[in-house]
Amino acid sequence: MNNKINLTVIGAGPGGYAAAFLAADLGMNVTLIDKEKNPGGVCLYRGCIPSKALLHVAKLINETHEAKEWGIEFSEPKINLEKLRDWKSSVVAKMTSGLGILSKQRKINYIQATASFINSSTLKVEKETGEVDNLTFDKAIVATGSRIATVPSLEIKSGRILNSTTALDLPVIPKSLLVIGGGYIGLELGSVYSALGTTVSVVEMMSGLLPGADRDLVVHLSKRLEKSFDKIMLDSKVVEMKEESDGLLVKIQNKNGETAEQKYDYVLMSIGRKPDASGLGLENTLVKVNQRGWINVNEQLRTDDPNIFAIGDIVGEPMLAHKASHEGRVAVEVIAGHKVAFEPKAIPAVVFTDPEIAWAGLTEIQAREKEIKYEAVKFPWAASGRATTIGRSDGVTKILVEPDTQRILGIGICGPGAGELIAEGVLAIEMGANLTDIKLSIHPHPTLSETIMEAAEVFFGQSTHVYRPKR
Ligand SMILES: Cc1cc2nc3c(=O)[nH]c(=O)nc-3n(C[C@H](O)[C@H](O)[C@H](O)COP(=O)(O)OP(=O)(O)OC[C@H]3O[C@@H](n4cnc5c(N)ncnc54)[C@H](O)[C@@H]3O)c2cc1C
Repeated sequence: MNNKINLTVIGAGPGGYAAAFLAADLGMNVTLIDKEKNPGGVCLYRGCIPSKALLHVAKLINETHEAKEWGIEFSEPKINLEKLRDWKSSVVAKMTSGLGILSKQRKINYIQATASFINSSTLKVEKETGEVDNLTFDKAIVATGSRIATVPSLEIKSGRILNSTTALDLPVIPKSLLVIGGGYIGLELGSVYSALGTTVSVVEMMSGLLPGADRDLVVHLSKRLEKSFDKIMLDSKVVEMKEESDGLLVKIQNKNGETAEQKYDYVLMSIGRKPDASGLGLENTLVKVNQRGWINVNEQLRTDDPNIFAIGDIVGEPMLAHKASHEGRVAVEVIAGHKVAFEPKAIPAVVFTDPEIAWAGLTEIQAREKEIKYEAVKFPWAASGRATTIGRSDGVTKILVEPDTQRILGIGICGPGAGELIAEGVLAIEMGANLTDIKLSIHPHPTLSETIMEAAEVFFGQSTHVYRPKR
């Protein structure tokens, strides 16, 4: 029955291509449309993958500095920017061309073009050559993602202003860089430039970095960034920018309304992302968007138009690649007639800074907002053998528990490798595990994963490496 369904997916990011690939695997007749030559979307071309490639280089450089304390000295790194740029681009090319091959192998009709709706069953497809076609579909999935948000009052024409895309292109290694926005993208890219030798400062409107993440996780990152960055200006905002011959003159206002001017070689604007529904012709369909521009969908990713589904960044937070992919797969299963819905208990979030911060399920901020009863248990990495062997005792593993049942509600980790470790927490939350399940699962020694097991043991006052008086 599935091979009768003509499915068109608009946008080939991690949401769109995951959806298209599963639909083809389920026997549908699939067309995948994207402006780029190959699938990949923001994630592969100008997001997750290139940023992580560069963060790996940053980690390498930082580790050579740390080794000094252990009696090993490296000379200062010589950075060949062109080669570094080429390496990063080769990573992107390898991944995106690989996706192109996977798409062909699945016999997906991949069209490099811009699509817009003519009505609820027809798309206008415009190729770069100017060639225009109409394409009809039984079902469509909109996966057009998000684009960079800007501050109109600060928009000046200057080659010294970078955004996340141009920053990933590594045009130069600036002498100084002001990152506007203390969210994860700004901090990750700031960390890359700092490791390459740039003097980096951050300005953030809120009272802390990474608004939304629990403060006891962020504190370790803040302490480390205070050493590697020049200045972290909280409760502050940029009110004016002027280009001068030798840099950008930036006026920054603090919470008391006082302003100060400072010159920076470059500025990286990283204030967030917004939905990308422009020019899609949604007005020609029954699809509705909310006030923030995100497409309204239900838990089956159905829009208000019975023929059209939407997934990924275009349907809202959290704007993360793995959320987009899972939504894509659920939408396709719904189209295939399966009784499924997108109802995750935990969508992990990872900030790939040094240290990394990762969380899944309930955070303490959310628990307080929603007045959910919880108890938090923490295992400090200072008590972890593995953390000590890598010279990184500055982390913490925290588990949020339902007090009566000891069911795991959330997990937060700060420390190197937190992004890998969090997967155990996701599984625990999704499986409805309680602290005893974690405590009784033998974790390998010496690994950072033991910090999860020992955090569970802390709850019972039985952690081998933490003394806690009897409850
Ligand atoms: C610097 C940076 C780092 C990031 N790091 C991470 C990370 O580490 N982990 C993580 O989970 N997320 C990360 N993200 C976020 C992640 O990239 C997004 O959440 C993810 O790409 C969203 O996937 P998507 O499928 O919704 O759409 P996108 O990846 O945004 O793809 C949408 C695609 O649709 C195409 N398109 C748009 N309109 C049309 C049209 N009319 N016709 C045809 N094609 C169209 C676009 O060309 C694009 O290729 C990062 C983002 C940035 C910017």
